[in-house]
Amino acid sequence: MSREKRINFATVWLSGCSGCHMSFLDQDELLIDLSQKINLVYSPLTDVKVFPDDVDVTIVEGAIGNVEQMELLKKVRERTKILIAIGDCAITGNVPAMRNIINNSPEEVLKRAYVETADKNPIIPTEVPKLLRRVLPLNEVIKVDYYIPGCPPPASLINYVLTEVLAGRTPVMEGKAKYG
Ligand code: SF4
Repeated sequence: MSREKRINFATVWLSGCSGCHMSFLDQDELLIDLSQKINLVYSPLTDVKVFPDDVDVTIVEGAIGNVEQMELLKKVRERTKILIAIGDCAITGNVPAMRNIINNSPEEVLKRAYVETADKNPIIPTEVPKLLRRVLPLNEVIKVDYYIPGCPPPASLINYVLTEVLAGRTPVMEGKAKYG
């Protein structure tokens, strides 16, 4: 495929464990096929600092936990034609949303994490981004075009969805949760 026909592709990592990105990399040799169809324009796997304009497809891992992530996600949505939520944290909140049970209070969350459970130096850092009151799944803030469920989703399911989307087809997800 000529370079002109390649699709501008991005991956974003919000509040997640990076397991979904690891599963993305687990596509192994299928990544070679994928790499011939895309230009990777933004990702934690690259050193690009600013989310670019005119991205064709973006996959987003993780829920929205802080103000910086909220701003980034809105920018990603504005600049992306097709946005895919990858993994249960992006889809439901999942693991990072477990903090929502702590009184819906960012202050209590920070106290619990950095003071009450600290073995040494119980100090709340000042450099952390401002937490939202609640961790949110993506679809509570932006329009999501496709979902890839799982924690993490199997690499084969990720490959299926990306193959279909990059080919301009709609992935059929019914029964695909067990894909692979
Ligand atoms: Fe990690 Fe699972 Fe969340 Fe993916 S869905 S970021 S693997 S906890």
